[in-house]
Amino acid sequence: MNAPFARADGCATPSAALPVLKERGQREVFCGLTGIIWLHRKIQDAFFLVVGSRTCAHLLQSAAGVMIFAEPRFATAIIDERDLAGLADANTELDRVVTRLLERRSDIKLLFLVGSCPSEVIKLDLGRAAARLSQQFSPGVRVLNWSGSGIETTFTQGEDACLAALVPELPATDAPGLLVVGAMADVAEDQFRRLFDALGVGPVRFLPPRRSGDLPAVGPNTRLLMAQPFLADTLRALEARGATRLPAPFPFGAEGTTEWLRAAAVAWSVDPAHFAAVVAPAQERARHALSLHRTVLAGKRVFFFPDSQLEVPLARFLARELGMVPVEVGTPYLHRVLLDRELPWLPSGTQLSEGQDVERQLDRCRAARPDLVVCGLGLANPLEVEGLTTKWSIELVFSPVHGYEQAGDLAGLFTRPLDRRQRLAA
Ligand code: SF4
Repeated sequence: MNAPFARADGCATPSAALPVLKERGQREVFCGLTGIIWLHRKIQDAFFLVVGSRTCAHLLQSAAGVMIFAEPRFATAIIDERDLAGLADANTELDRVVTRLLERRSDIKLLFLVGSCPSEVIKLDLGRAAARLSQQFSPGVRVLNWSGSGIETTFTQGEDACLAALVPELPATDAPGLLVVGAMADVAEDQFRRLFDALGVGPVRFLPPRRSGDLPAVGPNTRLLMAQPFLADTLRALEARGATRLPAPFPFGAEGTTEWLRAAAVAWSVDPAHFAAVVAPAQERARHALSLHRTVLAGKRVFFFPDSQLEVPLARFLARELGMVPVEVGTPYLHRVLLDRELPWLPSGTQLSEGQDVERQLDRCRAARPDLVVCGLGLANPLEVEGLTTKWSIELVFSPVHGYEQAGDLAGLFTRPLDRRQRLAA
């Protein structure tokens, strides 16, 4: 048995010491349908059929417009007035749409029926519809459902709902293994796979998989390494299958990535010297890339509006590795278990807020006059007009930001708006 690793530590502040401002009021967030934009690129033989309104279709189109490489592996089955008035049988309509879709698209192996506010309003039972259609189209196509409804949700919950819907489909196993949970860019996934191989940690599987036929097995000897901080329901479902989470910060920046990998290395009893030797080259490249951005960001004050649920890990990264000062870190939900290794790393004096009352938060932001505001698209333009510099939080979910090689790019997402503002002022 190898000696346990010492944790890298610094200006730790017990999370219990940080005050949390809980707010309930008007919120400015996208709904869970937005997750389809990155999930449809990740699971390459899946199709996402939103059962919703024209509003839902418009949201998807505008969110997809942010992406350069959007592909048509999602669509909206529009619920119209006749359905809403109960004049048409929505189930019959849905069966007709799905049959036509699957006849035309033999490449689809996994079909998600995605619920929306309108489908919930008319109480369309998509779970039952998915079971019925799955039976009809099996074994060629599996049909599952989840809800992206915007009632009381935020946009990254779409991924959580989607992955949680996949968990009952995962095969069972008693074999030991590591499961990395959360959608990451393929390039980051490949880099991590190489690092785990070099460390001798494995077998390693990823959820979601790139092909729906490649679902990872799960069981009592599966260790979970969470790649995203917003997957509370997925984690619960995996734990119910017997898997155990390895507590770790999230793999953002050199430090977060090292400690995330270290959590797996400790569980696999990897020799500390071997661990250090394996991660050293990439860790050094990441530190060097970050040092270039630190000169711009150090001492700058940053304010997070609650949106992506990445706020706490990103604030930790910006504070500890780039010297920024988080003024307020707002998050839609504060998942204390998932953030157990992140919260103690926030600097003392950081105002944490959970939930949103947007007008009051805007007042606090205006009063603080931060150098950078991380917020949703709806708030960014008005704040820019008021002279504040903003970063769209949704970009942080769409971009490859995990791991050592992306650490510099992640920092660049924060330096760019400051740079642009400076050039406009010059
Ligand atoms: S699911 Fe609800 S919040 Fe989302 S676009 Fe449709 S109607 Fe709007």
